[in-house]
Amino acid sequence: MILMATIVMGLIFSFSEDIIATNSKTILMSVVDDNAGELEFEDGKLEIDDIDFFKNSVYTLIYNINGKRLEGTLPEEFSLEPPLNDKKIIDIIIDNTKYYIYDKLTFVEDYHQKMWVRGVIAFDEVAGATKTILQIALFSLPIFILLATLGCYLIAKQTFRPIDKIIKTAEKIQDSEDLSLRINLKDNDVEIQKLSNAFDNMFEYLENSFESERQFSQNVSHELRTPTAIILAQCEYSLEESASETDRQEALKVIQKQAKKTSKIISDLLNLIRLERGIEKPSLSKIDLSELVSIVCEEQNIIMQNITLNQNIMPNIRINANQNMMIRLLSNLLSNAFHYGKENGKVEVNLIEDDKNIILSVEDDGIGIANKQKDKIWQRFYQVDTARSSQNSESMGLGLAMVKQIAKIHNAEINVLSELGKGSCFVVKFPKTQ
Ligand code: ADP
Repeated sequence: MILMATIVMGLIFSFSEDIIATNSKTILMSVVDDNAGELEFEDGKLEIDDIDFFKNSVYTLIYNINGKRLEGTLPEEFSLEPPLNDKKIIDIIIDNTKYYIYDKLTFVEDYHQKMWVRGVIAFDEVAGATKTILQIALFSLPIFILLATLGCYLIAKQTFRPIDKIIKTAEKIQDSEDLSLRINLKDNDVEIQKLSNAFDNMFEYLENSFESERQFSQNVSHELRTPTAIILAQCEYSLEESASETDRQEALKVIQKQAKKTSKIISDLLNLIRLERGIEKPSLSKIDLSELVSIVCEEQNIIMQNITLNQNIMPNIRINANQNMMIRLLSNLLSNAFHYGKENGKVEVNLIEDDKNIILSVEDDGIGIANKQKDKIWQRFYQVDTARSSQNSESMGLGLAMVKQIAKIHNAEINVLSELGKGSCFVVKFPKTQ
């Protein structure tokens, strides 16, 4: 700003003489032209009442065609009358003061004669006024610059305060490793507020991710600790000298069961991690979902004999999907329906399609799920009734987490409708255009 102002002031000063001269001449000519237009001849008399003989620092004089002055006076300093000179500005210096003189020969209608109108302006008078303005500008400009700089500094400080808060919060999080800290900017500029909210959301996302990773590792170690402890205890027991052959056989069976369980946990976890992280891109192909659902239903039906399975499957429903994943999704939903179903109850599998969707539902009339648990059942290792789940050595609370991931990979929506004590219905809605 200072540089620009200095350049502008410098330019104004260097051109000021020319500017003032041009300005003076323009004023002079316009006053003479105006006054020439005011000359009238009325009632046999020359009318000069409307003429302003000193206007805008211009002295006006009227002469007849022969050069005889009729009205107006020259500035005091003029001792001689300069000769008349049509439409040409001449300059003349008297007592160190420069004057511009402009004469105009004008024809006065009705009078049928020409008249001279002369204008005289002192260069210094206009220059003086203009110079005073320039001087005022010269003194006031630095003050304005100072005020503007101060204003800019204060505005910038105010603007950067929230950014400072964002930086400080990020640094604090890094130093204290406390992801629960938030910037929490309020009543601020919209853009900065958006930035701060975006950071807060990111911190929340990171906090949740870290928390769920921590929870996950805790759950994994907890799940693996029990079978490992059982295996170790059984090994020690069977290695005792007093253990009979039958005891050792029993111990080996327990060890085998626990080893199978551990192996299943590991393979399920690996599958889930692969699905969640998208490590393997599933290959999709057109499959006959109707046929696949029937086959899986038959297989499960053979295992679970004390529950009636009803199938309502529309034939020839084809879908672009990964066959293995579809089998896993359906087996999980069916085995849950059987496992959490009622003794001698029934399970119903429906597969239908409409214009937009293919809808698969698995419904049971078993124990149902309480409203507050409905959101949690999709979490890894979450089990509503651990006692009932533990009756089944296969239960680990990973099934629905996997089902949800498979649905997500196929752009499907999955929901559960359930009432405690009455039963549950899991509904998977696949879009047809995938
Ligand atoms: P699990 O291996 O324990 O069955 P899932 O992830 O498949 O794990 O299910 C999580 C929890 O959701 C189960 O422990 C159970 O409490 C509940 N759940 C799942 N399916 C049903 C169902 N059909 N009826 C009632 N509860 C269910």
